[in-house]
Amino acid sequence: MAVGCFGSFVGGATHGGQDSKEREEVSPVRGLAVGEPSTVWRNVNHPVLPNRLRDLAWMAAHEILPARAVMHSRGMSATPTCPRPGCGAPESVRHLLWECGAAEDLWATAGSLQFLCLPAGEVLNAQLVLYGVSQTKITSKDFAQLWLALNAVKDAIWTSRNLLVGKRMQIPPVAALQMAAATMKNRLCAHTDEGAGATRNKGPGGGGLASRGKDT
Ligand SMILES: [Zn+2]
Repeated sequence: MAVGCFGSFVGGATHGGQDSKEREEVSPVRGLAVGEPSTVWRNVNHPVLPNRLRDLAWMAAHEILPARAVMHSRGMSATPTCPRPGCGAPESVRHLLWECGAAEDLWATAGSLQFLCLPAGEVLNAQLVLYGVSQTKITSKDFAQLWLALNAVKDAIWTSRNLLVGKRMQIPPVAALQMAAATMKNRLCAHTDEGAGATRNKGPGGGGLASRGKDT
């Protein structure tokens, strides 16, 4: 399968926008240094992300994506344990998207296929993946492309996890990356259609993530 770098994403240099006011921008984020939370909340609302990925990024940053450990702590899941066969760790948001062996495999595959187009000197780590906090100087154009790819992969991890829980389907890393590639392609085509300055699409498909995490 060929999953290479996507064409350059033009636009989206202006962070924030109307929607950013709906969500707190200065709440502390666990594990981040002082001064970085505003970057995190700005990234959550990054204009490169379609609604679904903004919702995912928002829930990941708030650590309220309905993974089992999150739901268990609220009395809404019988077990906190990761559903991946042989894992056994509590399924926190960080575990689900970064620490779990299944997530590790997917990020490694993405790296080997150069799916993410990491700029020179950029290293894949939890802060970059979860919050878009980079330790290197990166142009806004490179960041937009990278941030879209990172969130498309996170979405693929979450979707494949829900297929495992709900339908007992095992999605191989390469197939999950094909889902991520489709998400990116749809976004880049939609953005071209919308043109610069397009507002968020309020139509069907946005905000659907919260209902997808139900354990059976
Ligand atoms: Zn796991």
